[in-house]
Amino acid sequence: MQIHLFNTLTHKEEPITTLEPGHLKMYVCGPTVYDRPHIGNARSAVIYDLLFRFARVVFPKVTYVRNITDVDDKINKAAKEQKISIQELTQTITNFFYADIGALNVLRPTHEPRATENIAEIIVMIEKLIANGNAYVNKGHVLFNVSSYADYGKLANRQLDEMIAGSRIEVADYKNDPLDFVLWKPADDEDDISSVFQSPWGDKNNGGRPGWHIECSAMSSKYLGTDFDIHGGGADLQFPHHENEIAQSRCATPGSHYARFWVHNGFLTVNGEKMSKSLKNFITVRELLDQGISGVTIRYLLLSSHYRKPLDFTQKALDDAKYSLEKFHETIASDFNPNLSNDVPSIILTHLAEDLNMSKVIAELHQMSKKGEKAELAATLDFLGLYDPNFLSRKVKNLSVDESFINEQIALRLIAKQEKNFAEADRIRKSLLEKGVSLEDVSGGKTIWKST
Ligand SMILES: [Zn+2]
Repeated sequence: MQIHLFNTLTHKEEPITTLEPGHLKMYVCGPTVYDRPHIGNARSAVIYDLLFRFARVVFPKVTYVRNITDVDDKINKAAKEQKISIQELTQTITNFFYADIGALNVLRPTHEPRATENIAEIIVMIEKLIANGNAYVNKGHVLFNVSSYADYGKLANRQLDEMIAGSRIEVADYKNDPLDFVLWKPADDEDDISSVFQSPWGDKNNGGRPGWHIECSAMSSKYLGTDFDIHGGGADLQFPHHENEIAQSRCATPGSHYARFWVHNGFLTVNGEKMSKSLKNFITVRELLDQGISGVTIRYLLLSSHYRKPLDFTQKALDDAKYSLEKFHETIASDFNPNLSNDVPSIILTHLAEDLNMSKVIAELHQMSKKGEKAELAATLDFLGLYDPNFLSRKVKNLSVDESFINEQIALRLIAKQEKNFAEADRIRKSLLEKGVSLEDVSGGKTIWKST
């Protein structure tokens, strides 16, 4: 079987080959652990999990590395705001990440290196870049000199001046050129000691921390070598993050090519709008799970549109996902045995080999369900991480009302509150409580419900 994927580097669909025969090496940018994963983070995790599951069927060996960024300005800020140590914050959020993403049946990668555990490797790489003439030290910072790398901009396929115009390129007095990016930054006086690492550069104490881009370059080469097969991540990481990763890695090891295939997944919007905290449409995976939505329903929704295309998250899409999964689980309910080794039908693998064509896979699932092909359907759902043994029992909740009615009442109550009609808002809350549904207002102006 030959997998084809769209390669951002060459702008075309290409057959995936491995540098080492039979051994696929893949790196994906992981979470920065300062906040619980939102559904945009979940989309990326689920898509590369699908690729990982598929690759394991096709290649005898797959090494999948997904890093954890546990040193970052956002982490320092969040720890300060919450008045907890950086270590406590990053450990708590890392655990939340595993719990939330795990509920979506995302498998653990082969290696999950943390930036703070790879500082020595990062420093060695920065030293190489300075020695090779690709980086310079200025005011305690180490910066990558973009003009020293002729192929800069090749992945993003843009001219340098366009990139400057289109991105939030920070102008700073320690940079020779605005495009130059930070490899190492000195510690601030107020920095928590656990985010300060000794280095050959930096301030009076020679303490500081790595820039974000260099972390991925150092960790990928440590676990996969300087040249490997697939590098994945969200489309928003293409520039400057991935462009910078390529520049650093290729310059640190002249003659290397870094990743040969670049895979990018599309954006996720909520009701047609970009998800952001200021728009109050920011949805975490945990919020959805707490509403009683099963992990496989969220996963199905996240896989239902082509991975490179934008995905719009709506209540209807969630209802549709639930409806389809209910049907599939009802079809296989009577005799699913997860220990029974049913092979995944080859037609499913053929569709996935065409740049992960999930719409064809989903059409196939509906066909199998219609024809009552229980064994094939069960094997496919299990392979895709879409099987949930409790799916049908979740349906029976002893509720006298259905979920769409509850969601409608929550929306009406929100409108009443916005209109300051608190009597009406309270009436809706009490009326739902009589029907066995309790409401809880949570951050971001949202309401979750639980069956009492
Ligand atoms: Zn990265």
